[in-house]
Amino acid sequence: MTVPELALHHQRLEARATQLHNQIERIEAELARNPEAERLEREVGSREAVRREVELRLLQSERETESRRARLRARERELMSGRINNPGELMRLSTEVDHLKLALAGDEDAELELLEQQELVEKEVARLEADLGAARSSGEAAAPGRQEELLRLELVLAETETEREAVWRQLPADWQKAYRRVAARVSNPVAEVVRGQCQACHVGATSSGMQLLRRGSLVLCENCGRLQVAT
Ligand SMILES: [Zn+2]
Repeated sequence: MTVPELALHHQRLEARATQLHNQIERIEAELARNPEAERLEREVGSREAVRREVELRLLQSERETESRRARLRARERELMSGRINNPGELMRLSTEVDHLKLALAGDEDAELELLEQQELVEKEVARLEADLGAARSSGEAAAPGRQEELLRLELVLAETETEREAVWRQLPADWQKAYRRVAARVSNPVAEVVRGQCQACHVGATSSGMQLLRRGSLVLCENCGRLQVAT
């Protein structure tokens, strides 16, 4: 390879290394997350919240029923005790007993409904947890292929970097210096010149510039300042 060709080759290796580096980062990020498992985790969390709420309402309803039942027993005992002779008072008590019985029937219906809800949400949670387990293990099963790809890319990157460094060492000091200076402001410091035109900025080279280029001298584009390589 001529010196200008080495400079161009170095630029290509650098671009390749950047590309490989990006691919590696993407796969690493991909391996770090499992979107399906994450979605199911959120779903399990929200169903668990519903399950706890139903449980709480059930407890509350059981407590209310229990206190109503106790009140009913007390009123019934009063009625049966024979201690109350006032007809108005007896009527009031008997009406209250009827109301309490009606309310208790309603309580039982509501409780049954809550129990059904509880069973349903428990089944849902169990199903989602099973799905979550499956998503996690399928994520782990899919990972080996990606792991191999990652290792392969890391190997190619290491080779590319080694070659790039070897190419760099072959560049003369004045080329290295010019390359570094231009690379500080653009990502592609080397431009090919095709049919007398800089391929980076599309401005034509002068005829004296072309003569120098053909001899493989270090020539910078008069317009964009890149190192030029005649191809
Ligand atoms: Zn140019």
